[in-house]
Amino acid sequence: MTNSNSWQAAGLNRRKIGDYIVTAIVDGFIAVPFDLLAGIGPDEAMRMTVAAGRPSSSAMTVSTYLIEGKGRTILVDGGGGGINGWGGRLHASLAAANVNPLMIDQVLLTHAHPDHIGGLVGALPSAPLFPNAELVMHDAEFVFWTDDAILNQAPDAMKPFFQAARVVFEAYGARRRTVSEGQVAPGISIEHFPGHTPGHSGYRIDGGDASLLIWGDIVHYPDIQVPRPEVTIAFDADQTAAAATRKKVLERVSATGELVAGMHLNFPGFGRLSKTGQAFEIRHEPWSAELI
Ligand SMILES: [Zn+2]
Repeated sequence: MTNSNSWQAAGLNRRKIGDYIVTAIVDGFIAVPFDLLAGIGPDEAMRMTVAAGRPSSSAMTVSTYLIEGKGRTILVDGGGGGINGWGGRLHASLAAANVNPLMIDQVLLTHAHPDHIGGLVGALPSAPLFPNAELVMHDAEFVFWTDDAILNQAPDAMKPFFQAARVVFEAYGARRRTVSEGQVAPGISIEHFPGHTPGHSGYRIDGGDASLLIWGDIVHYPDIQVPRPEVTIAFDADQTAAAATRKKVLERVSATGELVAGMHLNFPGFGRLSKTGQAFEIRHEPWSAELI
């Protein structure tokens, strides 16, 4: 038998951020068409992708991030777990990184879409796959997915997303913690970036000389939405707010030059932004054999 499917081998890339080591872990990809984007046609989206040197494909990368240090092992998001065929390689990649799921002390959620939580529960929905982990998310995220009035008004296509979120929240039960601001672990703070979902958040690691902002879903297609931040995606709960938040975050990180990471960046999973005139640009950081 040959490995003839379209999966890559385990994608792992480590960076040092102060006393923490942060590992980008590719969970896989989501095979979605560019038709999901608003504010750009599919042909133009493909043209921008190819012009950026990417393969001519609308597949969206899905990653999670592992943070190790200060006696803790923390996972940021849980990948897609294979829901709808989305992602699903997190656990194989954790094994390749020599990380046992029992070691995970905390799971920090950027938001509760299926491609970020699918890998947190097993075939028995009540069984958390990281049974020793505290599940942390923004207050507004928990409220959004658990409010029956919001569920009832949601489009039919989005209703399974509520179901998936509720299954995961239930599985972690008493180990759930919702927050609105401040530190969630030593040197790691939550930052609220509402729009994509009401509680959508990033996590900033302050490591003294070095810092890292894991910005969640500020972009889904970096080669498109960095140069054209007004382009939104069908999964945005509030498209206007999502675009406004994206612009605000891009302004900030291009001004500071801080290192960023995101669940839909291209591997190896880290980048820096710049702005020339009115145009934002992302430069993905190259992989380094030496841990830097
Ligand atoms: Zn996502």
